Parts: sequence; C-alpha cells; structure tokens
Amino acid sequence: MKEIKLFINGEFRNSIKEFTTTNPANNEAVAKVYLPTEKDIDEAVDAAEAAFYSKEWREMDQNKRADILEAISEKMKVRRNELTELEIADSGSCVRKAKADVHNAASYFKVLAGQLRKFQFEVKDESASRAGFSNNFKIYEPIGVCAQIIPWNFPLVMAAWKIGPVIASGCTTVLKTAQETPVTAFVLAEILKDVGLPKGVVNIITGGASEGAYLLKNPKVRKVAFTGSTNVGRKIMELAGKNLQRLSLELGGKSANIVLDDADLSLAVDGALYAFLYHSGQACDSGTRLFVEEKVYPTFKEALLKRVAEVKVGIPTDPAAGYGPVINKKQFESIMGYINTSKIEGAKLLFGGERVTGGEFDKGYYIKPTLFEVTPDNTIFNEEIFGPVVAITPVKNDEEAIKLANKSVYGLAGAVWSKNPERARNVAKQLETGTVWINEYHLLNPGMPFGGYKQSGLGREMGEEGLKAYLEVKHLWISDCDERAKKPWFDAIF
Ligand code: NAD
Repeated sequence: MKEIKLFINGEFRNSIKEFTTTNPANNEAVAKVYLPTEKDIDEAVDAAEAAFYSKEWREMDQNKRADILEAISEKMKVRRNELTELEIADSGSCVRKAKADVHNAASYFKVLAGQLRKFQFEVKDESASRAGFSNNFKIYEPIGVCAQIIPWNFPLVMAAWKIGPVIASGCTTVLKTAQETPVTAFVLAEILKDVGLPKGVVNIITGGASEGAYLLKNPKVRKVAFTGSTNVGRKIMELAGKNLQRLSLELGGKSANIVLDDADLSLAVDGALYAFLYHSGQACDSGTRLFVEEKVYPTFKEALLKRVAEVKVGIPTDPAAGYGPVINKKQFESIMGYINTSKIEGAKLLFGGERVTGGEFDKGYYIKPTLFEVTPDNTIFNEEIFGPVVAITPVKNDEEAIKLANKSVYGLAGAVWSKNPERARNVAKQLETGTVWINEYHLLNPGMPFGGYKQSGLGREMGEEGLKAYLEVKHLWISDCDERAKKPWFDAIF
C-alpha cells in the first residue's frame, strides 16, 4: 500500500493523524495517508511565506521558472505509467480517461511555460503616457501566498491547473488535495522536488473541509483558489471575505448541449453521450441538459437509444470500459436519489436508472447510463447531479433552445451541434457560459481561459487570464517633467 506523506517546505513528513483511501472500483485500500494537524497547516503556510520572500524565488527570472515548468512536464511524461495506474486506483478513472489526464496535465505545464516566456511583466502604456509629463507602466507582480483547494474528480489535472500558475507567476502555495483522491498530487510533489523547485514554493497537504477551512483562514494567505461545488464555493467566498483575499472559484455546472435540426445527427448522438457520460458524469462541464429540436427529435432519440446500449460500463482497468464507478457510496446515493426524484416527479425514463450489478460490479458503485425526458420544472433539469444522468428536452427552435439553456443558475459550458457554422455561432454567442463548443464537447485548450458565468464561478483558469489571476498589477508612474512650474500640483497647497 502506498504511503502518502505531507509535502511541506520541500520535505515529506508524517503527522500524528492518518487515514486510508480506497479504490472506488472495489473498495480496496489504495494508500495510507497522513492528515495534517493545524500546526502542520500553519507550518506549510509559514514555509510558503518564507519562500515567497526568499531572494532565490523573488529574483528568479521568468525563463528559469519556465524551464522548471517544462522540466515538470518532461518528468511527468517519464512517470506517466505510474501516474496513470495511481489515478485509476485512487479516483476510479477508466484507463483511457486516466491516460488522457496525465497527458493533459503534463501538456498544461509545457504550454504554460511557453506562455510565461512571452508574458510581459512590465508593459509601458504609450496611450496613457505623454512626453514631458509622465511615462506609465503596468507592472505585474505575484500576489503572494495562495491557499488552493481541489476536488476529487480530476485530481492530477486539478493539481496541475493550480500549481502551474503559482510557479509561473512567482507566487507560493499550500495546495489541499481532496480527501478521497490525494495520491497523484504527491507524485507531482516528488517531481517538483526532483526538478529543483525551491523549497516552500509549493506545499501539498491532505484533508477535508475542516483542514481546507483552517488553511484559508490563515491571515498570511492572500489568494484563495478553489475548485469544487457551488455550495462549498459560497462558504469559501464568505471565509475569503474576512481578509479580502483574492479569489478564484471554479464551481459546478448544468451545461446545455443543443442539437439543432441541421446537425450531423450521428455525430451529435455520440457527442451527446460523451458529453454526459465521460468519467461517469463526474465532470464539472458535463452536458447534462440535452436540447434537441423537435423536427429531428424522433430520429435523434431512436439513434441515441440504440447507441447508448453500446456504451460499456466497466471496471476502470478494462481498456474497453467507456466509464466506470462513481467515486463512493455517498455520491452513488445522491445520484440514485435524483433518479428516484425524477421518477416521482413524472419525468420519463428512457434508459437506465439503476445500478449495474453482478461480479466485480458489486464491489463498487456503478450506474447505468440514464436518460430522462424532462420539462424545465423537473429537479434534474436544474440541479447538478454529478453522475451519468442526462435530462433531455425537445425544443421548438433556436430561440427556445437559447432561452431554456440560459434558464439556469449555472453557466460553465455548453455546446451547439449544427452543419451551419453561422447559425451555430449565433446560438453559441447567446449562451451565458464560460465555454461553448460547436460540434465538439469537453475538449479544453490550455492556451484558452476556462471558468464559469453566474454561479459556476469567479475568474478563469488557464490562458493569459489564468496567469493574471495570480498577479497584482501595479501602476508605475515615472515623471517626465522636472520643472516645478510645469507640474499640475505645483500651486495646489502653496
Ligand atoms: P466539494 O465542494 O465537496 O469539495 C471540494 C474541495 O473543497 C475538497 O477538497 C473538500 O475537502 C473541500 N472543502 C469542502 N468543504 C470545505 C469548506 N467548508 N472549507 C474549505 N474546503 C472545503 O466538491 P467535490 O464533491 O470534491 O467535487 C465536485 C464538485 O466540484 C462539483 O460540483 C463539480 O462541478 C465541481 N468541479 C468544478 C470544476 C470547475 O472547473 N468548474 C472542476 C471540477 C469539479
């Protein structure tokens, strides 16, 4: 069994408390994990603060930080098999998803390195400057010590999205992993040590809600970056308000997937299944509200029901598995609760709606792909389920699709399927969400911003916006006028 020690000030250490993580596929123990005490968390923050003010980190050139990011990417590739196996065991990710996660996390560090080399930390604003009066510069500086909290669904990718911009910006951090899935972030910690990241720049701890809340209450923390549910996001915002910490929130979603009547239907059917079934539906940007225009709905529905029967729910190590178990019993019960509510409310169950059982399946919590036909007043039209369940609603036309798509407190992602680029773009532009795909789903580009409108979040990760989320901007005014009489303030108080 793997042993996970806290990573504080560049060293791995035990603590007086511990817990065990289990494999969602079979409930077998994966790792013995040390849980930090309040003293450990304080020491991690102290280490991050000392690193932030250390000469070595403050004076490190941006190209050297980019070298570190590239080295992390390379080392991750070298350890890709180990990372993949651990991610499968710890999070119940299927082998194809876990491989993609390791690849995406490694690529992210590489892309970020490229962005960092080009990023101008000092920019003279010519339009705001005037010869003989003033020269004006924007200077981007790291915010300081960060507290970062991540969820269990994409553990390695989430850790990469958090640690990457910390290193790129020159900040420092204490990252808290999710209680359910701490393992791969600590392999990343070994890699950080291996590539020579100065000690204390990145500290990684374990724990749940109480450790997370304790961490971000530390007054030395200047920025909080949280990914998780909207409900917890609200609590985080309240806590961060006390010390007016800078805040990034990546929260839940109920994303709309819209099939227009001129779509390539066979592509849209597969896209719709991929959109809500990927990682058992445990993705924040899942396309869980499916709108299909009435004209093509009967044909689409028939093809969808035929195709969904071909999706293989399987144990995560099986390369043929399309998706596997949900993370744990609590999540399973929550999903089944939504399925029951939908039945009681009169939503029409088209497929699934039950647990997959027998043999290996009885050791974990597997749920059949579940399709409901719903109206906008059904609970599952509105609430995030985080499981393999889709709410399908036929719509009259583009306008109704847009109106219903925007009828949500969430605004994380969405998609439009159509063969007419102009029409699809017109619909896409009217969706109130942070990402919209046309004839695509789930794919993210590390060079582009990702985040939510409305209650799906605050701020962006990745892209230039993601880097700037870790920077303060200073206006540096350099006078270009040394004649007292020409200064506008000269006679102000004399
Ligand atoms: P969660 O909100 O329950 O927990 C997320 C993290 O917050 C965990 O590390 C948890 O230990 C910690 N936490 C919980 N309560 C806390 C508190 N009071 N103070 C401080 N920390 C606390 O979410 P989850 O169940 O782990 O993940 C699923 C949710 O995450 C879904 O809603 C999903 O949509 C969202 N998510 C969003 C994105 C995104 O980029 N927008 C990405 C992945 C997941």
